[in-house]
This record gives sequence, structure tokens and C-alpha cells, in this order.
Amino acid sequence: MISLFPFDNIREPQKHFMETVYKAISEKKHCIVSAPTGVGKTAAALVPAVKHLLEKKVKRIIFLTTRHTQHRIAIETISRINEKNNISLKIGDIIGKRWMCSQPNADKMRSSDFFEFCKSLRKSDRCEFYMNTRKNSGFTNNAKMVVSQLEKTFSNVERIREFSSELRLCPYEIAIEIIRGADVIICDYQYIFNAGIKAGFLKKSGISLSESVIIVDEAHNLPKRLRDILSARVTTRIIKRSILQAKRYKENEVIPHLVKVQDAMNFLSHNIENEKKVKKQDFLNLLWESQDDYDNVVSEMSDAGERVSEQSRNSYLSSVARFLEFWPKEDAGFVRYIKNEPDNTTLFYNCLDPGLLMGEVISETNSFVLMSATLFPLEMYRDILGFKRDNCYLESYKSPFPEKNRLIQVIPRTTSTFRERNEQQYKSIAKICSDIIASCKGNIALFFPSYAFRNNVLQFIQTEKEILAENKALSREEKDELLKRFKALSNKGAVLLAAASGSFSEGIDLPGDYLKGVVIVGLPLEKPDTEIIELIDYYEKKFGKGRLYGYVYPAMIRSIQAAGRCIRSEKDTGIIVFLDERYVWPLYKKCFPEDWNIEIQPRDYAERIKSFFTSLNKKRLPKNS
Ligand code: SF4
Repeated sequence: MISLFPFDNIREPQKHFMETVYKAISEKKHCIVSAPTGVGKTAAALVPAVKHLLEKKVKRIIFLTTRHTQHRIAIETISRINEKNNISLKIGDIIGKRWMCSQPNADKMRSSDFFEFCKSLRKSDRCEFYMNTRKNSGFTNNAKMVVSQLEKTFSNVERIREFSSELRLCPYEIAIEIIRGADVIICDYQYIFNAGIKAGFLKKSGISLSESVIIVDEAHNLPKRLRDILSARVTTRIIKRSILQAKRYKENEVIPHLVKVQDAMNFLSHNIENEKKVKKQDFLNLLWESQDDYDNVVSEMSDAGERVSEQSRNSYLSSVARFLEFWPKEDAGFVRYIKNEPDNTTLFYNCLDPGLLMGEVISETNSFVLMSATLFPLEMYRDILGFKRDNCYLESYKSPFPEKNRLIQVIPRTTSTFRERNEQQYKSIAKICSDIIASCKGNIALFFPSYAFRNNVLQFIQTEKEILAENKALSREEKDELLKRFKALSNKGAVLLAAASGSFSEGIDLPGDYLKGVVIVGLPLEKPDTEIIELIDYYEKKFGKGRLYGYVYPAMIRSIQAAGRCIRSEKDTGIIVFLDERYVWPLYKKCFPEDWNIEIQPRDYAERIKSFFTSLNKKRLPKNS
């Protein structure tokens, strides 16, 4: 197996990682691996899977990732394995259908709307790209030609889109055709876990999961993604829009049904201050009398929604119909609640148990390899995802980067607990942050428990460096622009303010001098609302670890994930500061990676940061200076 490894040097943890994956696949078992940045996870997971593929013990390798950069890295790794070993593994690369679609502005649509939109265009022969690609359930000559050209080389999504657009073909259909003949498929989680997408994808691409190895990258996100797939919600705002849409598109017969749903939600939310649990039957009793009536209304609404999507890109009616389809489903592993906000009320049917979905896919699949830099504790992931103790290997590795390159501090002087959020607390936090910003040479990022908390502290921060604040409402382009500006300021030094729960805490790579320090302000615990309380209760009953699995560990994972933005390569240097008194409490402290050498600095934190950067500079100076 080692001979397949495509790089010159193989690191010791990589070797162990590969052996574990090889063993798991041989035994038709699974493995969950926590490996920090720098271990070389992608190659370590792919090489043993390729070995099994070459030995014809499995037929496909499916590499699941949400990040575009990971698509590129996986493709490069397979390409190197091919070159080094003179073999010709074929790759199929695909992202979400709406991101591949050639129709203008498809990427701006909500995914449920896009699904209906694409279906209705195809059904009514109104998508020229589809019609140019498929004919009488086969492929057109142009489509065949493009597929054969793309199959000759490694074709990533960009290349598929480029070739397809020249001949006005559907890039999604082209990608699926390439996947039919591919050994290694790189795609998003949805293709394997979303039942509505999975069945069609597996059928069209001819994949059998029982003969496949599924590698899940960034697997710390998997539980949340699975829960989201099984969850549904509806708001009074959406219902109002549905009524307007029904009037506009002359779907008048569904209006009384929508009004009934709206009245039921208003009744359930009457006199509640914020949110409360709702029983399945409480809502059903306010709707239609028999199950048959209920089913008829849902199907009527769904048909009307489909007709609307033939004329409009947003079908609110379909959203309401989808929610009503979900609501009568099972109670076990779910929470139902209603929430009031100014001018809007939301009814939730949310999944608490990712194992409900994962369990099904595990039973169909030869082997899963789950990997991430922040999969801790490994036992929690095994338990909540539904792996059995005796068929799942757990491994974790230390960071391969030099310890001297980083300074990790805990400053136990302040807290972000809800009951102690007051102006004095914000001022104290801002004072420490200002000191750290001044002591840190270069760019620094501060991650807060929430945007609201960040804004409360921001008003008291004093610095001469430029402050850039990320917020939830920024579009992808605006976020890219913000990061570009942040990088451009790295010589002078700038301050990036973000939320630990936001996309910047894990989706950004700022190597080298682009980021010299990260401060995790407070503990990003979720607000203990109805859903979190139910989650804790559910995990307590199922595993006897409700508070840990439902509350404490997810917050520590967010903290450590955000801290991981700082050191991205062997040569990176920087400081990581955890600013909250609870980080020294045993409950939280034991969650830090074992190989972290953490200094607890109640007072001299700024001096220590300065001396750290001074010592780094000295090491860089030539000996005779
Ligand atoms: S068939 Fe292809 S091009 Fe047409 S709407 Fe669907 S994804 Fe887009």
C-alpha cells in the first residue's frame, strides 16, 4: 500500500492513518479519525481506499466534502496516485445541481425552489440545455462528444461547466454521465444523505453503496447537516406570501387551506412570549378532520406549488406543502415547537438525532471513513451518528507542526455567561482584546459567541488598526471582498471581528502572514432554547451524556475550530488566545487537544505575546546581525 502513496515523504501519523483505513475497509467496518491540519488526511484516506479498489474489493470511492478547495485537493491527490503508479483511475466531480445549472441566476434560488424549477422545465421541454443534452432517454451527439472529451483528462466542475456552456448543454447531466464510469467520485453530502436526491443520483450514476467506500471530509459538520436534512419549518410570513402567490397564479382553491394553516399557527402562538413546545396532534386537530382529508390537501397544495414553479422561480406553496408532508411523521428523535418573533411566527419540526438518517446509510455501505481536525471526543461522533462500538475504529493524531511556532493562552479574567452580560463585562473584555490587538504583530481575528455580543464589545475596543466586521447578511461575494481587504492589510495589521458560529470560523484559510493571531472571546455555547433543552434531554436518555453531547462539546468544537484558523502550515507562526474563565474549568479544559501546551495568563498576557513575537523575530535574524 505504501508504494501507492503519491508524495515523497510519508509522515508517521499518515502511515497509521492509512493502516487504520485499510483494516476498516478489509473488515467492512468503519473508522472515525481526528487529524489536525498538516497530517495529510486526504492522501491518507484515499491511498488505502484505492488499494482496495485496485484489488477489486470495492468498486467506488465516494469522497464527500462541502468545500471547493477540497474538491481540488482530492482530484490532485488521485492524479498523483495515477502518475506515480502508472494507473488510470477515473474521477467524477460534481457539486450541488443548482450551482452547476446553466440557467441564469439558478444559484440565487432556494434549493427546494430550484428542485421544482428544474423539474418543471424538464417536464415541459423548456430547458434548452437539457434538451440539447438528452434525447429519448439517451444522450445527444454533442453531449456524447463532450463526455468523451472530458473523460480523457481529469475534469473538475469548472471544466465540465466550461465545455458544456460552449455547446449549451446541461453541466449536471454531463457530470452524472462522467460519474457513471468513474472510480472516484467527489461530491457534496446531499448526494448520499438527502433521500430525495440520493435515490436518483445512485440510480443514474450506477453506484451501489454496498460496494463503495465513503470518505467524509470535515465530518464534524455531519451531525448538523443530517439533522437539517430531516427537519422542516414553516413561517407565517411564508404562508402570507403563498396566499399572495396563489391569488396571482389563480390557484384560488388552495387559499382556504393556507388560511387554515395560518389560523392554526396564530392560535398555537397566541399569548406565548417567545417559544413553546407543540404536540403533533395539537396542530393536526386545528386542520382537517381525517387523515385522508389532510393527505388530499397536501397533494392539492403540492400540485399547485408545482404549477406555480412553472411560472415563478420561488414557489412558496411548495414550501408549505413540504412542511405539511413532514409534520405527521414520527415523534421519536424530533422536537416540535413554535416561536414568536416580531412580525413572524415559525413552527418547527426539527430532528435531534442524526443517527436516524446515518444509521440507514451505514447499513447500506461497505465502509465509512470520517475525518476532520476537530472530531472530539471521537466516542461522541460514533454514538450520535449510530456506529456500533464493535465495528468502528477511533483514531486521533497530534499536530505535526512545531510547538514553538504557536503561543496558546487562556486568560481567565472575564466571562460571556448570559447572566453576567453587562456593560462592565463588555468593557473588561474590550480592554483585554485591545491589549492583545496592540501586542500582536500583524493581522488578528476575534471570534465572539454571537454577532450581538460582538457588537456590544466592539464599541469599547480601542485600536489604531483597521477593523473589519463580518456579519450574517453578507453575500458570498461580500465575504470574499472582506477577506481580500483583510489580506491586503496584513503588512499594517488589521482586526477581523466575526462570530464563532459564522462561516469565517471554519471556511477560511489565511496562511503565513495573513493571520498572526486568533482570540476566542467567551464560550460559544448555544442559547438554551427549547431545541437545545430537548437535545440535551434526548442525549441524556439515549447515552447518559445529555449536557456534554448536546451543549458543552459542540461549543468547545466551535472554539477549537475557530482557533484552527491561525496555524495552517509548518511555517506559520501565531498566537491563539481563549478569553473566558471557564476555559480553565476541568469540564472545558479537558476538551483541548492533548498536545496543546496551554499557558494560563490571568495578568501578563500582553507582555507574553510581545515576547513571543520578539523571540520569533530574533530567530529569523541572521547570526551576525
Ligand atoms: S436541466 Fe440542467 S440546465 Fe436545465 S434547469 Fe435543470 S440543472 Fe439547469
